[in-house]
Amino acid sequence: MSKKIYLYGNWKMNNTYSETEKFFEEFTPAYAPLKADANLEVGIFAPFTSLWPLSQGAKKNGIVFGAQNVYYEPKGAFTGEISIPMLKEYDITHIIIGHSERRHIFLESDEVIAKKVKAVLDAGISPVLCYGETLEERESGNTFTVMERQLKSAISSLIPAEVNKIIYAYEPVWAIGTGKTATPDQAEEVCAWSRKLIGDDKVVILYGGSVKGSNAKELLSMKDIDGALVGGASLKPASFLEIYTAYKG
Ligand code: PEP
Repeated sequence: MSKKIYLYGNWKMNNTYSETEKFFEEFTPAYAPLKADANLEVGIFAPFTSLWPLSQGAKKNGIVFGAQNVYYEPKGAFTGEISIPMLKEYDITHIIIGHSERRHIFLESDEVIAKKVKAVLDAGISPVLCYGETLEERESGNTFTVMERQLKSAISSLIPAEVNKIIYAYEPVWAIGTGKTATPDQAEEVCAWSRKLIGDDKVVILYGGSVKGSNAKELLSMKDIDGALVGGASLKPASFLEIYTAYKG
């Protein structure tokens, strides 16, 4: 039996409310032939302001969906932040936590990311925990030290049932939005290493970083890569779904 593939799209700060509605006008017929494929799980992560049309489109198509960030406190004086109870009213199933753009542009620390992961789990939602090294960290031989710090700080205080509920996304910073993809061997090396560090053979580990139709097959065929977290190529239904059809060949 072939393995299950997770195809998750991170729209970042793209797709307005009306653009999200348009996206689903194209997505629904394009996804129809794949809808019954039990080996495919599609997910989309939209900006907060597009969550309503996303929820409608996602429910209609039976895909998972969520936000790209959240604050860990349930309410209070946190101007500009969005809480988990606010997101729960949209019936979201997943939330991306610790994306490299949150870590590097918005300076989110490992400590804040750990608090977010725990709060999301406590709410019964699956965190999609992103981690990965910068080019400088890779070139100075620190890839695994950095990732060990990122992963351990997020999961070390969790119980095994919580650790298993997280979806892990290895995203080397140098490969995100750059058109530069990790080689299948580089991505596999880190995903296999991560699985050992996490200590559970069955956790879901995605690779992210310039995944597209032309490189999907070789990346997704690797043993320890369960799917892809896709930025740029997820903005159009055709380029997004092509990742899975290219993998299937
Ligand atoms: C991402 O946003 O998580 C990502 C991997 O982006 P891209 O596919 O554009 O590199």
